[in-house]
Amino acid sequence: MAPPRKLHIKSYGCQMNVYDAQRMVDVLTPEGFVETASVDDADLVILNTCHIREKASEKVYSELGRLRLARDAAAQAGRTMQIAVAGCVAQAEGEEIVRRAPVVDVVVGPQSYHHLPQLLARANAQGRALETEFPVEDKFGFLPQPAPATIRARGISAFVTVQEGCDKFCTFCVVPYTRGAEVSRPVAAILADVERLADNGVREITLIGQNVNAYHGDGPDGRAWTLGRLLQRLAAVPGIVRLRYSTSHPNDVDDDLIAAHRDLAALMPFVHLPVQSGSDRILAAMNRKHSAADYRRVIDRFRAVQPQIAFSSDFIVGFPGESDVDFAATLALVTQIGYAGAYSFKYSPRPGTPAADMQEMVPAAVLDERLERLQQLIDAQQSAFNKAAIGQTVDVLFERAGRKPGQIVGRTAYLQPAHVFPPPGMESDALVGQVLPVRIDSLERYSLLGELAATPPQHARPLAATGA
Ligand code: SAM
Ligand code: SF4
Repeated sequence: MAPPRKLHIKSYGCQMNVYDAQRMVDVLTPEGFVETASVDDADLVILNTCHIREKASEKVYSELGRLRLARDAAAQAGRTMQIAVAGCVAQAEGEEIVRRAPVVDVVVGPQSYHHLPQLLARANAQGRALETEFPVEDKFGFLPQPAPATIRARGISAFVTVQEGCDKFCTFCVVPYTRGAEVSRPVAAILADVERLADNGVREITLIGQNVNAYHGDGPDGRAWTLGRLLQRLAAVPGIVRLRYSTSHPNDVDDDLIAAHRDLAALMPFVHLPVQSGSDRILAAMNRKHSAADYRRVIDRFRAVQPQIAFSSDFIVGFPGESDVDFAATLALVTQIGYAGAYSFKYSPRPGTPAADMQEMVPAAVLDERLERLQQLIDAQQSAFNKAAIGQTVDVLFERAGRKPGQIVGRTAYLQPAHVFPPPGMESDALVGQVLPVRIDSLERYSLLGELAATPPQHARPLAATGA
């Protein structure tokens, strides 16, 4: 039998890429590949790239420069190292990648990962292989399922893609071009994935999609199901104690999703709802198709049915034409909503998007100063949110051993890491996969420290979530 070939995948960017990297491992495992953490002993290195901002996509070229040296060293040692570029840079730049970095053997877009074995073989035979089409077949039908042992090794929390692509065309964003049009997977396929994950120890599922609440997959009744309906069905899967979804668009929040937050104890009261700006003028230039007031109304609808709910968001600072008044509106919106956390980015012009042709660029110094002010406000809100947990008893889903010997770490409903020491005589492994109440005593940077507030049962079966 041939010895296993070693695969190293480096992933950049969003959750979708983390998930895609796992699916690439699942495609290549039956081909005799095993993962390695080291680039130097890899037979195949895949860069799973992100094109969302210029900085992210330029990183790929500096990494390819380093990989050229690693490949030369492998050749000197008599080994062949193949190099593949996957993800959104592959999709957006295609042949340009090979022109700038001839060291690349394979360029593969996000819709073609199921063709990786054939592309590697073609690169072996012909020196190079590129595939950045949007193939007519659905890649999900061809992606192999991970083995039970692989699922277990990946831990108790898993991502499941339910929707890909985006039809919204925000003027700054490359996603509709790199990931293509919106496609939803059928309910039955998602349910089968979730049941298989649950059977192999997964307790928490995060449904992912570029625009996840635009989900409209075929249901078993022949109708298109909404995300809310899908969540309701998945909450009934034995073993699944927590459900999340990301990333949502404010315009796609419908009554079913609000009802799911009202009715499902397993649906965590923490929603990532990007708004990008608090200025109606900038929101219109971004083609967001909602105003700041529309966004506030959506937030109010969630809060009306689930008082425990908290939000995070994305903001772009320095979109072309953003004035001091526009930026002040963003700060006002953040102050009004009160976030548990948020990401803020400097606007980055992306080739091919309408905003890249807009002329009124915000000067770099102004941009830096605005980003700093926004981040300070968000940090202050996040610290206040975390501090508010001190003295409370909150449910924690335990995930793995902590950094200190004997310690175990899990997450609250709001994804805050929480660390505890199990009671004397109890192995921390026995708690993995269980939701238990923890009394929070203190905060160390972003982590909560506390003590179990109930004696855990001695068996490893998870308890039902009791809500936040
Ligand atoms: N679909 C989501 C939405 O509706 O906002 C997010 C998709 S995108 C992968 C994640 C975030 O990257 C966006 O919310 C936005 O804040 C940021 N982003 C996208 N394009 C950008 C650009 N050209 N410059 C700076 N940030 C950008
Ligand atoms: Fe990009 Fe999100 Fe807008 Fe779609 S909705 S274009 S993914 S920012």
